[in-house]
This record gives sequence, C-alpha cells and structure tokens, in this order.
Amino acid sequence: MLIGAHVSTAGGLTKAVERGVETGSDAIQIFPQSPRAWRPTNYTPSDFEAFHEAFAASPLESVVIHAVYLINCASKEPEIRSKSIAALTHALRVGDGIGADGVVLHAGARKGEPHEPSMKRAGEAIREALAESETTPVLLENTAGTNGPLGQDFDELAELIELAGGSERLGVCLDSCHLFAWGFDIRTAEGLAAVIDEFDAKVGLERLRCLHVNDSRIPFGGKRDQHANIGEGEMGDEVISVFLSEPRFEGLPALLETPGPERKGPDRAEVEKTKRLRESGLEARKGG
Ligand SMILES: [Zn+2]
Ligand SMILES: [Zn+2]
Repeated sequence: MLIGAHVSTAGGLTKAVERGVETGSDAIQIFPQSPRAWRPTNYTPSDFEAFHEAFAASPLESVVIHAVYLINCASKEPEIRSKSIAALTHALRVGDGIGADGVVLHAGARKGEPHEPSMKRAGEAIREALAESETTPVLLENTAGTNGPLGQDFDELAELIELAGGSERLGVCLDSCHLFAWGFDIRTAEGLAAVIDEFDAKVGLERLRCLHVNDSRIPFGGKRDQHANIGEGEMGDEVISVFLSEPRFEGLPALLETPGPERKGPDRAEVEKTKRLRESGLEARKGG
C-alpha cells in the first residue's frame, strides 16, 4: 500500500513532489488547477518534463489527480455541462502529461433532477472526456454527501461505469469516510471483507485503483461528507487500521485528504501515524 497525502501544487508541479517528500508520502494526490475555479492551469511540456524528473528522483511511487469539485457531469444546464466536460478533459490531459495513475472524480449530483437521466448524462459526459484524452483512467469516487450525489453505492458505480462506456480506463476510488458515512459497515475486518466482496461482485476488484483514507466527523450512516483527521473522528484509530490492513487493498495508492493539524492538509506526522495504523492492523490480523 502506497500511503501519502493530498498536496498543494502552489508554486508549480515540482513543488507538489517536494511536499510529497516532506510529508513522507509514498504516493501523492494533486488538483490539476485551483479546486474552486473553472479556469484551468495551463501547463507546458517543460512543466511536465520537470515533474517527471523530480518525481523519478523522489521516493514517490504514484501520483493521482483529483478533478475539481465544481464538476457536475450530471447537470442539465448546457453551460455547467460543457464546463464540466472541459475541466475533466483538462484533468485527464494533465494526467497524461505527468503519468498519473488516474483522475479521481465525483461524477456529479442530481440536485433534484430524476435519477436515471442524471446517470445517463453523467455517463455521456465522462465518455466524451475520455475520448478527448489519451490513457489516464477516470476513477469514480464513492460519495456520501447531500444534493443527490451519484455513485453512493456499488450498484450506482457499476451503472456509471457501464453508461460511460465500460472501458478499461474506468476505475474506482473508495473513500473510507464516504463508505462509513453512507452506512457501509466497515467497522470490523469481517464487515469490511463483506463490503469488498460486494464491490467485487458488482463492480469487479480489477476496477479498484485507488483509496482515500479519511476519518469521518459524521457518525456511522449519517450520510454526509465531512472528513476528520486520522483517528480523531467517528471511525477512530481502530476502524482506520482495519481499513488499511484489508488484504485486497495491497499495492494501491491510499491518500489522506484530512483537514490536518492546521487545516492546511495532512502533514508528516499524520502520514506516519497512518503508516503505523496499517502496521498495527496487519499485526492484529496475524494475531486474530
Ligand atoms: Zn475522497
Ligand atoms: Zn469526502
């Protein structure tokens, strides 16, 4: 498992590599542009080259991009829709440029619209963005928020993958906080194993390419999305260490998107703590 932090790209792509090293990460996640504005950050081939050089010289083994939160692939409004497709396409092209293992995407939200047409629109938008980019996969993230987010359970994720064309460039990112807050019982090793069995049956384990490791400020099944620092939320150290030691998660990038001690994102101490929780989870499984 490649544990690491979501890091800022302020100052350029190579700064993200530096921050990954500073936080003791094995993998990093970045935004391809400012997460709260539509305006894309235009990178040049030499920016990508500098990233490759810095990355190759670092101990980092994986980089993942998180598409901006403004994207709503399910939107009926032509302007939001075309901006969403453009932003996803941009993220995928940055992914192609830096050799990212995927672009994590919250597919969209219904916002009061009926479910099926919303799912169809989201699938088509993703399909278009894939057609406009080369090889980087789209990793649909399971969601737990309000406003009718798509992809809350494995049936919806499987349906979205199908509606988006079903290609090998479609994968999934599972977020521990979202699973817990939605009401997937991942509180014990047995519970988590059953959840991953269900994922395998409905989506296919080969589609699982990335994990988000976050604690939850919302109680189990509370159906809202608010991240807490590792061990400081409703999941706590024990549930997080169960999550981190699931054998089928072996080898995946596992990224922290926590507020961090100063609300500036995860720091080195939190990454190290997460690595220790994985070790203690593995020990507990051996002993049990
Ligand atoms: Zn997440
Ligand atoms: Zn979240």
